[in-house]
Amino acid sequence: MIPYGKHAVDSADVAAVVDVLENRFLTQGDTVPLFEKALCDYTGCQHAVAVNSATSGLHIACLALDVSSDDIVWTVPNSFVASANCARYCGASISFIDIDPITRNISIERLEQKLKSAVKTNKTPKALIVVHFSGLSCDMKQISELIKPYNIKLIEDAAHALGGTYLGQKVGSCAYSDMVVLSFHPVKSITSAEGGAVLTNDSELHRRLSLFSKHGVTKDPAAMSNVEGDWYYQQVELGYNYRLSDLHAALGFSQLKKLDAFVEHRVKLAEVYHDELAALPLALPTSISYSSSAWHLYMVEVQNHDRKVVFDALRERRIGVNVHYIPIHLQPYYRDLGFNIGDYPNAEAFYKNAITLPLFPTMTADEQRYVIDALYEVLN
Ligand SMILES: *Cc1c(COP(=O)(O)O)cnc(C)c1O
Repeated sequence: MIPYGKHAVDSADVAAVVDVLENRFLTQGDTVPLFEKALCDYTGCQHAVAVNSATSGLHIACLALDVSSDDIVWTVPNSFVASANCARYCGASISFIDIDPITRNISIERLEQKLKSAVKTNKTPKALIVVHFSGLSCDMKQISELIKPYNIKLIEDAAHALGGTYLGQKVGSCAYSDMVVLSFHPVKSITSAEGGAVLTNDSELHRRLSLFSKHGVTKDPAAMSNVEGDWYYQQVELGYNYRLSDLHAALGFSQLKKLDAFVEHRVKLAEVYHDELAALPLALPTSISYSSSAWHLYMVEVQNHDRKVVFDALRERRIGVNVHYIPIHLQPYYRDLGFNIGDYPNAEAFYKNAITLPLFPTMTADEQRYVIDALYEVLN
């Protein structure tokens, strides 16, 4: 089976992990800070907190903003459930903004409309979580300008987009947002097996992110009401154990050195798909001048064909196609909260015809040829 996504681990990665096993602390050592610093250097952001998943990262990002049951959080429906669940962990209510059918990212028009009606009803959200779908950055400048008058905080779920750029800056720079959340799951741009990080340029948010990821416990004398001795610490918030281990950080740190090469290969594969599939009844991803995509996913929408028939025929040919995503609001958990079919028609229309084609850093030209030929067979 040719998978839709796959990690690329080499002997340098293995050596980096073994070095930690043999010579260093397995957790709470110096490898996590090293990885955090390297993430800052790469993205141009000032602070990074490494965590054990992007899901944990999204949770502490909401906690750092004090998101609570009195609040509303907005995100998009065409994402992994974690993009919305983080608000629910904090007891906040969630609402969605439909996508733009061309970029497949948040619709700027819908955001404008929703803001207008939220202002009228006094229901503006505490935070907006945007998702850089498939690796293509949202138009962050425009979004940040739209929400600025209402004091809405902005989080980028950049689980797809590490290695991409926006207006000439790396995704993760936090130039237009309060925080950026990354994932190092094996199918993402780089992997630490499981892992993630939250980036910010705000030192107070950085302090709170760090606190919430480590039990809400501090050893900083300035943050404690009193100090009884060198052993002393205080728990000042209800935090979690969301730490990344040094073993995982070693893998992530080693992978980060190859990120640009990985993305370069992804870009080449995407260009070949773009040229070779143009003649087929497929809507292909579009490129946008303000962003270079990290190409986490190459997604097509089938036209004049039944998606399930096409999907099954490709799977029969041992091609591990996938579908990203079942719209979050249609999940039973979210249906129980009151969401319905028809609430977000663009996300639903995209889901109906979407197929994710294989694309990963070790994919060969032969493998891609096989996928393209299969698509010509199935769609003709
Ligand atoms: C993968 C993903 C997540 C969750 O990442 P984990 O590291 O597996 O927790 C969150 N949001 C999006 C958009 C994702 O693709």
